[in-house]
Amino acid sequence: MSERSLYPVPEVKPGHRLVPAGIGKPSEQVMVFVECPDWCNWDHVADGPQHASDIFHQSSNGGGWDTDCLTQPGDRMISLDAYLHADPTATDPNMRAAHIVLDDESTEAYLTPDMTDRVADDLIAFAAHLRQLAQRARRANALTGTPPRRSRSQVDEAPRRVHGGVRQSEATA
Ligand SMILES: [Zn+2]
Repeated sequence: MSERSLYPVPEVKPGHRLVPAGIGKPSEQVMVFVECPDWCNWDHVADGPQHASDIFHQSSNGGGWDTDCLTQPGDRMISLDAYLHADPTATDPNMRAAHIVLDDESTEAYLTPDMTDRVADDLIAFAAHLRQLAQRARRANALTGTPPRRSRSQVDEAPRRVHGGVRQSEATA
């Protein structure tokens, strides 16, 4: 049997490169090379799994979204992040392919690109709903005079917090 038939040099798929990956416990880690998509930012050495079958690919988190709360200012009450993911040993071909993970820090929703487009459309509609609620609340409050009108110094304070000590009027001057 020729050497060539035993260990053919792997051809890397388009959009992929070979990267080192650590397999096993840190004290017994073995280095292998795995085919990794160009969009993957996962450190396969530092965060290598126990078993080769547990290797996955993941992009770094994009600009996540979170909101605070009137009663708990400064706390992240609801948050959402999204990133690319692929599980090369999954039985579902959609999980083996590049897909999107929507992550709220307690649940991960796996989405195909088409599902992600639909979620994006729904979020745009939801944003319009939020703006309508804000308008209705503003109108309702204007009728009752609640909350009390803020003083001029309080009005100036909000943009100062948002723009890191520089008021919006100063930042754009
Ligand atoms: Zn990777």
